[in-house]
Amino acid sequence: MIENHLPTAELQALDAAHHMHPFTDGDALSKKGARIITRAKGVWLTDSEGNEILDGMAGLWCMNVGYGREELAEVAARQMRQLPFYNTFFQTTHIPAIALAKKLAELAPGNLNHVFFNGSGSDSNDTNIRMVRHYWNVKEQPERTVIISRWNGYHGSTMGAASLGGMKGMHKQGGLPIPDIVHIDQPDWWSEGGDMTPEEFGLARAQELEAKILEVGPEKVAAFIGEPIQGAGGVIVAPDTYWPEIQRIVKKYGILLIADEVICGFGRTGNWFGCQTLGIEPDIMTVAKGLTSGYIPMGASLVSDEVAAVINSGDEFAHGYTYSGHPVAAAVALENLRILEEEGVIDRVRSEIAPYLKAKWESLTDHPMVGEAKIVGMMGSIALTPNKATRAAFAAKAGTIGLITRERCFANNLVMRHVGDRMIISPPLTITKAEIDELMVRARKSLDEAY
Ligand code: PLP
Repeated sequence: MIENHLPTAELQALDAAHHMHPFTDGDALSKKGARIITRAKGVWLTDSEGNEILDGMAGLWCMNVGYGREELAEVAARQMRQLPFYNTFFQTTHIPAIALAKKLAELAPGNLNHVFFNGSGSDSNDTNIRMVRHYWNVKEQPERTVIISRWNGYHGSTMGAASLGGMKGMHKQGGLPIPDIVHIDQPDWWSEGGDMTPEEFGLARAQELEAKILEVGPEKVAAFIGEPIQGAGGVIVAPDTYWPEIQRIVKKYGILLIADEVICGFGRTGNWFGCQTLGIEPDIMTVAKGLTSGYIPMGASLVSDEVAAVINSGDEFAHGYTYSGHPVAAAVALENLRILEEEGVIDRVRSEIAPYLKAKWESLTDHPMVGEAKIVGMMGSIALTPNKATRAAFAAKAGTIGLITRERCFANNLVMRHVGDRMIISPPLTITKAEIDELMVRARKSLDEAY
């Protein structure tokens, strides 16, 4: 542990002077100073002033087994002593990578029996871009290069992943998107559904995929990518009609389906994978975050028998990262999966904790500012609105009320995120009912203060 003997204000000044934060307004940071988190246990964070903060976001949607699991620290230390690193390039491998690939093949649905290891969710999606394009090359259809994605989807921050993503603010910076990535609209009924029923809207938005395939030319389309539930876009849960129609369309045109499970994977939706909750059958699945419960960075692309067979039959796939299959990360991932499995964490989510959270979360719609409340498993959002009947947005700049509410939450020692005027939760899967009660007390108090 790195000891600290400096007062908070001094640490904040050093932080602002030397540390460039991701997704952070640097000017605001230098005026206000970042909150310094010093330790954590279960669902509780402690800051440098000794405040106990309830982490309603599981870090960044990743601490599925909660903080402070000694087993994970011990496994990492043991693996570092035995084999801290070796690569998996050029015909070499090691036991942790073999064991983890086998375990992921067992857990993954369908015939996703092959694993390409990456370092994060972003670079897993970069792997996917190159893999699907290489796949069509090997199949002698090199013109199939276009990947269709969704506005307001989030797939990461690298050039490739941010191009797949549909965050317009990100596209403005750095010359995105890269070529041959196109977007269709998202299935957000609350904000964009107009007079349609959710079912009509879900179908209409899915059919945009078919329209886009026809516009681009079916012979040019390589793949469609989507998050089973859009996370960073605001926990957007598609209407029930959406995914079956997407599935029908990708089958009809023979294009690959990539499910980005970076958030939805490893229990977040009440099953091992979001695809199982939503009945999606992907050819490739992106995983990261919950794979190691955030204890150490790791991502992976889980690949179907058919796609892997094609890739393996072609020229060497000239792609990989120094840390692909890193032995310490793989050992931690295996131990994390053991905890999830042997402690019945996901079964408990499905049968007990998610239904409890859902009832509490949905009760927030009695608040004057809360429109719809959506929740699947342990990821939920509420839409803030001045008029529930018309589903209107607040007149002030979009996101202002969300930001104010988030800041009230933080002041009340609760981490919740906001995306525009939606408030989001995604707590550790191990949260107790008493902690959910506490989360709701703090959320309601913060809503009252922001209202
Ligand atoms: N894909 C999804 C669905 C995500 O939510 C994220 C991160 O939040 C990523 C990809 C990127 O993962 P990473 O931040 O590990 O690169």
